[in-house]
Amino acid sequence: MSRIVVLGGGESGVGSAVLAKVKGFDVFLSDMGNIADKYVQVLKDWDIAFESGGHSEELILNADEIVKSPGIPCDAPMVRKCEDRGIHIISEIEFAGRYDSAKKICITGSNGKTTTTSLIYYLMQNAGLDVGLGGNIGKSYAYQVATEKHDYYVLELSSFQLDNVYDFKADIAIITNITPDHLDRYDHKMENYVKAKFRITRNMNEEDCFIFCSDDEITIGQLDEILIKARKLPFTQKGKVEQGAYVEDDRMIVKVGEDECDMFLNELALGGRHNVYNSMAAAIAGKVMDIDNDTIRQSLSSFQAVEHRLEKVLSIKDVLYINDSKATNVDAAWYALECQTRPVVWIVGGKDKGNDYSVMKELVKQKVKAIVCLGVDNRKIHEAFEDIVGSDRIADSLSAEECVKKCSEFAEPGDVVLLSPCCASFDLFKSYEDRGRQFKEAVRNL
Ligand code: ADP
Repeated sequence: MSRIVVLGGGESGVGSAVLAKVKGFDVFLSDMGNIADKYVQVLKDWDIAFESGGHSEELILNADEIVKSPGIPCDAPMVRKCEDRGIHIISEIEFAGRYDSAKKICITGSNGKTTTTSLIYYLMQNAGLDVGLGGNIGKSYAYQVATEKHDYYVLELSSFQLDNVYDFKADIAIITNITPDHLDRYDHKMENYVKAKFRITRNMNEEDCFIFCSDDEITIGQLDEILIKARKLPFTQKGKVEQGAYVEDDRMIVKVGEDECDMFLNELALGGRHNVYNSMAAAIAGKVMDIDNDTIRQSLSSFQAVEHRLEKVLSIKDVLYINDSKATNVDAAWYALECQTRPVVWIVGGKDKGNDYSVMKELVKQKVKAIVCLGVDNRKIHEAFEDIVGSDRIADSLSAEECVKKCSEFAEPGDVVLLSPCCASFDLFKSYEDRGRQFKEAVRNL
């Protein structure tokens, strides 16, 4: 019996272990740290051998194949040792793809993955298709392949999940955009990160479709470098395309083959230019799957924003509080600010990933009346924006409660308080979700 060893005991690793068990492998799961109680329970329920708090080499280096969880870097010592032994290392997506004959719509990109994935899932459900949702979102893909059967999967794939795919093939692949992020995991080389994203197009052939943003220079640059056999369907807000999607006056127009679908931009449920891109990507995917125009229009106009993505929380004394805690890089926050039509009290800060704030300056000048930093080290933010908003209009805070209180002091009726922090959350919070929830709680307690 071949032996599969899974490294990492989170959603992805535990799902892979269950799938390996179902497929009759000798399975072992190992995690350097703690495994959450709910996953320990799953491993016990499925009678899967595991260890936590360290890796036992003798139980790992005898594997025929390793499934590495996306959170573990490629240069982790145990991963290196497996490589030195010549053991093949794959990702959960590669492993599960081997046992899944469903059609797969796969989405990657620096920003907009979850929104676009959720939009497409909603659209397909409304069209009555039998579809599973997985990848970086919800239940792991591997667990679903082990325990359910669907005609289609919509998969959100981070670059880490794509790092160890080889034979996996998407039927429809989408790259929303590519901007610098997570470079610490790619030797600080943008080209490595770009290449990881483009792994989503591996193995695609003429019957498949590749959907991408032709306004994104990095994507276009890479497209010139590599050969993709799939049909290419771009989306753009800067001109017209024969096939794909574009904006004309106040409408978005989608053309796939002979088929055409159009929709007024003000009918889209999600506001902001970035969401026009996400909606266009979803609509193209819908047309490729032959979903009718009414279902596409009705879905794109009734979709509810995903939590922590430009999520409207409450209006208090005519000040609207918006939770965009998921904006953990500069590009995401740029789009969030850009779509604001009311004066903004902007909450920014957290764990800086090497941000370059210069691209934000013009927008801050136009839109932002005051800034409340929410982070341990706010020096870079003060340096970048103090001259623009004025030193009496920039404050620091160390908790959601303190932050919201300071915002409410700056804000006047008609303003927006926008949490769109450009930074990771780990200096003060457990995760971006924790930051978003604490923010909402603090707003409700105002
Ligand atoms: P991801 O899953 O890639 O992190 P999300 O859909 O969760 O993307 O959105 C993350 C943040 O990025 C949100 O706060 C949102 O404001 C911003 N965003 C969403 N779509 C786009 C886009 N197409 N381009 C730039 N920023 C975007």
